[in-house]
Parts: sequence; structure tokens; C-alpha cells
Amino acid sequence: MPNMNPKKTPMPEQEPCIRNKNFEEVSLGYTEDMAKSEAERCLHCKNQPCVKGCPVGVHIPDFLKKITEGDYEGAYHTIKLTNSLPAVCGRVCPQESQCEHNCVRGIKGEPVGIGRLERFAADWHMKHGKDEAEKVTPNGHRVAVVGAGPAGLTCAGDLAALGYSVTVFEALHAAGGVLMYGIPQFRLPKEIVQKEIDALKEKGVKVETDMVIGKVFSVDELFESGFEAIFVGTGAGLPNFMNIPGEGLVGVYSANEFLTRVNLMKAYKPEYDTPIIHPKNVAVVGGGNVAMDAARTALRLGAENVHIVYRRAEEQMPARREEVHHAKEEGVIFDLLCNPLQILGDENGRVGGIECIHMELGEADASGRRRPVPVEGSNFTIPVDCVVMAIGNSPNPLIRSTTEGLEANSHGCIVVKDDTMETTREGVYAAGDAVSGAATVILAMGGGKDAARSIDNYIRSKE
Ligand SMILES: Cc1cc2nc3c(=O)[nH]c(=O)nc-3n(C[C@H](O)[C@H](O)[C@H](O)COP(=O)(O)OP(=O)(O)OC[C@H]3O[C@@H](n4cnc5c(N)ncnc54)[C@H](O)[C@@H]3O)c2cc1C
Repeated sequence: MPNMNPKKTPMPEQEPCIRNKNFEEVSLGYTEDMAKSEAERCLHCKNQPCVKGCPVGVHIPDFLKKITEGDYEGAYHTIKLTNSLPAVCGRVCPQESQCEHNCVRGIKGEPVGIGRLERFAADWHMKHGKDEAEKVTPNGHRVAVVGAGPAGLTCAGDLAALGYSVTVFEALHAAGGVLMYGIPQFRLPKEIVQKEIDALKEKGVKVETDMVIGKVFSVDELFESGFEAIFVGTGAGLPNFMNIPGEGLVGVYSANEFLTRVNLMKAYKPEYDTPIIHPKNVAVVGGGNVAMDAARTALRLGAENVHIVYRRAEEQMPARREEVHHAKEEGVIFDLLCNPLQILGDENGRVGGIECIHMELGEADASGRRRPVPVEGSNFTIPVDCVVMAIGNSPNPLIRSTTEGLEANSHGCIVVKDDTMETTREGVYAAGDAVSGAATVILAMGGGKDAARSIDNYIRSKE
């Protein structure tokens, strides 16, 4: 008999007033009993709508069944059949708009906590399981992957499993992309990302860091050195700014820079002397996951007042509900329907405040969302010593500007022909944020998988 409780088994979490002062993980994970009880809520629908909602097609009912039977290692291996980064996806995937959105239990209550169970199985494996190195016969072909984010790592892992010799070239000194430099430790511990990367290396994937393709080697030079196909998964790491006065002041960061200093340059560890401001009063501009991450990180660095400044209403915030909820619990102040006009400097050229104007919702725009319009004369100033801009990122132009025949659209995203992920340059494939613009981990992984399949077809067709 399934467990007919309409509510998900609650996730144990650190108390908000404790966790907002440390970088330890917020959610603590299910125990075995909790996991079994939650997995028993699955009705095992014949048409498996949850699987259709997963961009990488994880066999969800199968892995849930294994959890109910206490076969946690089996559950993990079932997920691994289609998802190379389960511990990551269990933590950061927007399940509420994907697998869980399609769950039949969600009609009359809460959907099955698929993400929480994916995390449980992956964590169980990390503690108790063993990775048997699969024996793959090398097929003698070489592929280069540019960018070690979720798109690149997935493509690399799938190609290595088919016998390809794969080298990943990563610009930064650590692999992982946004998983390493963007998403904070308290949501996604870096040790977990590293373990997933190590598992790929065990499969034979070579990772070369500090290699900016387009500068150290061009795509043409990679072909000349014997790579038969190239996958571009360079993400969307170029931060957008508002172009308002004061953005050049000391104390203004892009969210990418702020989070990179904390995550990759380890400002979250007291023993590291990372060059970063430890601000008292912070305004984070934006309403997405990146803004929530920056605001919650600022609190943990010791800020007393952290404001989210967002020009629309809460219902229109693109951030996951869970992130908004966690940020509110931790004490982040939400200044909604407010738009920055200028950043004000103090006598030393540092940030002294941010001038904003109240907004109200007008007619719907092309996206169907009601357009925010300024309320005349409603200007006000928030006294802050740091402003973090989290209003979106675009793909970096380096690869497309140094590669002949690689077309991009007006947003700077690399153009692919269809879901083969083939670009306009023969032998070059692309996926992830570099193609879609800033999106999600699982979509980047799905694109990386599609590209691996196409690269395999392409190389075999030339044999
Ligand atoms: C702060 C933050 C929080 C987020 N939170 C979530 C979340 O909770 N859930 C979710 O699903 N998504 C989230 N996202 C989005 C998600 O992380 C991205 O959609 C995903 O990482 C895209 O994967 P990717 O592989 O395409 O690119 P990336 O992860 O950006 O990786 C690209 C890699 O390519 C490297 N690179 C770039 N140019 C070159 C070059 N010329 N040569 C060599 N290497 C290069 C970069 O250094 C980087 O390591 C978040 C994003 C941010 C910034």
C-alpha cells in the first residue's frame, strides 16, 4: 500500500538564525526511514509522467521502488544510468517545474519529493557505495570539450563511456563551472561536486584547467592537434549591468564576481585571506536564484542588513520558491517593486547608498508579465556600503569571435541547428547556457547528452 500522506516528508534543516551565520549545508538530508516513507508515496503510474518531466529521463519510479526495498545502492545506479551528477541535481534542480510538477500526487497534495530522494540515494552511495571502474574499449577517436560545467562534463562522461579519448579544457583553475564558482557552499557543498568530477576522471576523462580556449589554443588549433570533434559548453559567464550612474564605484560587484570570490577563492573559509569587502549593509539587485544566493552569502559574511531590490512583485520573481522562502527565513529584506536609479558614492569613492524609485504594475508586456512602471516622485535611498548586481548573464564572446563559421544570435548565444546540437561550423557542437542563455543545470546536462550522441554519430559516419 502506498503512503497516502498528502504532504512530503519534511526535510531536516539547520535553524535559520544559526545557518545564516555559517556556510554549512542548509538542508541536512533524509534518514533511511524518512527516505523509505517518502518513496512509498509514489503511485507507480503506468505512463510515468514524472519521467517525461525530467530533461535527462531519469527512471524515477524504478529508483523510488528500490529505495522502498532498502536497495539504496541499486537506486543510485538506476539514476546514474541517465544522470551523471545525481548528488548535484538532487540539490539544485528545479524539480517543482519538472519531474515533481508532473507527479500525480501533486494534484491533491504535495508531489513526491523526488529531488530529496535523488539526493538521498546519491549521498548514500558516497558514504557506503563503491564505484567499479567500468571497462571500456578505447575506440581510438579524440574529442575536445571546452568548458567544465555541467554541459561539458556530461558530454565528456557520455563520450568516455563510448570509448572516446576526451580532454576537457577549462578556463578557471577548477572544473565544475557554476557548480563550483557560483552556487554557494550552503546549497551545494564543493566536496560533493569534486567527488562527481573525480568519478568522471576515473572513467578516463582528462581535465586540463587554466586553459582559456580562444586564447591559449583556438578551436582551429584543437582540430589541427588531432581532435576530430569539439564540444563547446562555455556557459553564460558575462555579467549584465544596468548602466546606471555609480556602477564603477568601489563596493559594486557583479553577482558572478562576488560569488566567485566567496566560492572559488574560498572567502567562506576564515583561514583564507581572500580580497573581498565584508560589507555591513548590502543591496542585491535582481530576483532570480543568483540574487538569492548573493544575498544569503552576504548575510553569512557578516552583513547586518541585506536588501533584495527587485522591480517586479514577488509572484514574478524567477527564483525558486524554496530559495525565496529560505532567504526570508534567514532575514533578507525584500524591497519589491523598487528599481535602482543610481548608486551613490561617499567622499572616498566607495558605495554610500543606492537611490531607488517605487514601481507599480502596468499593462502586460511581450512575456505576458505586467510591466513595472515608475511611480513619479517616489524616490528613496537605501544606505548601503555594497551593491551586488544580479540581473542576468550573457555568453562570453571569446569562442565565437575566434572561431570561423560559428554563428551566434543577437543575444550572443551560439546557434545550433536542432537538437543534434550541431553548430554552423562542421565538427563543432554546443549546448548549455552558451546556447540557451542562462538556464538550469539539468537543461545544460540534457544538451550535453544530446551533443555526445551526435558527436558519436558524426565521427562514426566518417569512419
Ligand atoms: C549563482 C547561480 C546560481 C544558480 N542556481 C541554480 C540552481 O539552483 N538550479 C539550477 O538548475 N541552475 C542554477 N543556476 C544555473 C546553472 O548553474 C547553469 O544553467 C549551468 O551551470 C549551465 O551549465 P553550463 O555547463 O552550460 O555552463 P557553466 O556552468 O557556466 O560552465 C561553463 C564553464 O566553461 C568555462 N569556460 C568559459 N569560457 C571558456 C573558454 N574560452 N575556454 C575554456 N573554458 C571556458 C567556464 O569557466 C565554466 O567553468 C545558477 C547559476 C548561478 C550563476
